[in-house]
Amino acid sequence: MLIQNTQDIDLLEWQKMDDLLPAVVQDAFDGRVLMQAYMNPAALARSLDSGSVTFWSRSRQQLWTKGETSGNTLKLVAVHADCDGDCLLVMAIPAGPACHRNTDTCFDNDLTIAPELSFLAALERLIAEREMKRPEDSYTTRLFEAGVKRIAQKVGEEGVETALAAVAGDREELVNESADLLYHLLVLLRASGTQLSEITAALRSRHGDSK
Ligand SMILES: [Zn+2]
Repeated sequence: MLIQNTQDIDLLEWQKMDDLLPAVVQDAFDGRVLMQAYMNPAALARSLDSGSVTFWSRSRQQLWTKGETSGNTLKLVAVHADCDGDCLLVMAIPAGPACHRNTDTCFDNDLTIAPELSFLAALERLIAEREMKRPEDSYTTRLFEAGVKRIAQKVGEEGVETALAAVAGDREELVNESADLLYHLLVLLRASGTQLSEITAALRSRHGDSK
């Protein structure tokens, strides 16, 4: 159930656990589970009103807007309650690391917890990091230094090789060439100041669903 207003909030099973419900926060872009905390009705109402994810801090016994001191806020996208109304799924866009350890998520290295399809998003982040840090001996660094034209040429080549592998019926080659194509496409998007989220948004809009 989508929770949008105070009427929705009142329908939840708050009495089960002293006015608290566990709130699992999921990255609205790539589906990674970022953290888990608790909300009371006031925290949930504040989250909906302000658009900034707010919890109830059990240790401090007060409302706690995530990122109020660190700046690593969670921009609320949607809150859903589970089937029996006693657990919240909070979809959000993080402004920075969600964990106090300065990691993206409270659970583990973001590459290892990325669901299979979200690995593309993890790879996108890794490519962005390579662009900024430019580590030596990195093929990605060499691509960025060669520039957009060279990267675009690689995307063209890998596209043709992918097509040829499919036509030849070589499944193993198709997988390898597709991996090359996606990787070089992500590098090209980065080098052109474009994000994977813009591509998925464009794909989504073609299906008449803007969010
Ligand atoms: Zn943490």
